[in-house]
Amino acid sequence: MNRIPMKTPLVEMDGDEMTRILWKMIKEELLLPFIDLRTEYYDLGLKHRDETDDQVTVDAANAALKYGVAVKCATITPNAARMDEYHLKKMYRSPNGTIRAIMDGTVFRRPITVKGIEPNVRTWKKPITIARHAYGDVYRNVEMVVPGPGRAELVFTDENGHETRKLIHEFQGPGVVQGMHNLDKSITSFARSCFSYALDAKEDLWFASKDTISKQYDGRFKEIFQTVFDNEYKEKFEKAGIAYFYTLIDDAVARIMKSQGGIIWACKNYDGDVMSDMLSSAFGSLAMMTSVLVNPDGKYEYEAAHGTVQRHYYKYLKGEETSTNPVATIFAWTGALRKRGQLDGTEALSSFADKLEKATLSTIESGKMTGDLARITTLENPQKLNTEEFIKAIRMLLENM
Ligand code: NAP
Ligand code: MG
Repeated sequence: MNRIPMKTPLVEMDGDEMTRILWKMIKEELLLPFIDLRTEYYDLGLKHRDETDDQVTVDAANAALKYGVAVKCATITPNAARMDEYHLKKMYRSPNGTIRAIMDGTVFRRPITVKGIEPNVRTWKKPITIARHAYGDVYRNVEMVVPGPGRAELVFTDENGHETRKLIHEFQGPGVVQGMHNLDKSITSFARSCFSYALDAKEDLWFASKDTISKQYDGRFKEIFQTVFDNEYKEKFEKAGIAYFYTLIDDAVARIMKSQGGIIWACKNYDGDVMSDMLSSAFGSLAMMTSVLVNPDGKYEYEAAHGTVQRHYYKYLKGEETSTNPVATIFAWTGALRKRGQLDGTEALSSFADKLEKATLSTIESGKMTGDLARITTLENPQKLNTEEFIKAIRMLLENM
């Protein structure tokens, strides 16, 4: 069989534990037999990050900027236990944090919907995608315990030393106080990423905040979104037949519960953190959720939304059978291959990505699935397969398409 050629390499970021095992199986069974796969390989496995003092993560992110499309395996974010387990030189930052800081942009999380895995919300017929702003607010806060009576103030000192002050509170007794910030530049690129993604997906974009209460802070987000929309996207949205809609966050939550889905929901950092966990569990499983980082210049990094599935890995190491769901990792590859195909004008590559996704979903719809899905499916008599059997079942379908 003739393998599909590629023009530009994908940036391939390998990772850790069970997902590293999945990564290899997916390449060997579902990609290499069909594609003349070209990648620039970066090993983000924790051991190699340690050997390179984490330089490999920085190099990989820069390569993603250079080539435009990357695919990433889940990686360990070191904590104290990992320091001992891997004898690390230091407690490195989260690779996703490092990559996001270099690439900038917005994280889009989209559930993979399939017959037999029904959302808990009956009205949802189409996926709902969360677009999470990945900078600032409470994640970069400065906070303080107030020990007793006193005055808390916000002070801004400009470049010339001129001070502007606002009273936060005249404390009569103990309490707490917190300061947060965000940047016009970051909010603007967040807005652009959301509008571009909505155009790509041909779905309406919602953005919600609490500007009735936070008139200046959340008001700034609302204003920037509206300006970017009016100046850069309004006509494109009209042409594509999609809409931009701003509302209050509590109203958005109420409406989402009654919507049919098929929406991109842009959220501020904290809202996005909370809402993406709500949506992924309401849609079924973290293993059925794709995640892509889109930077404001249209560079893409695809990954699965879940972690390295440590518990399954230790079973695997002991030679026990595992039934780890590879779907989100497969879809990270197909997302990246499709995008590469679109950018390079290699139609065969994009349509292979479509086929592989279809083969994956058809396998599940035929009743063959991993344990996490077998537990929650509405299909009768599901067949629980182990990791390898499931990937081989997908390959069988793929070969006959
Ligand atoms: P996790 O890998 O997401 O797994 C948590 C649990 O969710 C698993 O034990 C498993 O439940 C279930 N699960 C997740 N993905 C699954 C899949 N593909 N198939 C079947 N079940 C799946 O989180 P973790 O084990 O708490 O974290 C492990 C490591 O991942 C940590 O070191 C963390 O730093 C890292 N992490 C990385 C990323 C990333 O790179 N994007 C994101 C999050 C976490 P059962 O055990 O009940 O089967
Ligand atoms: Mg969270």
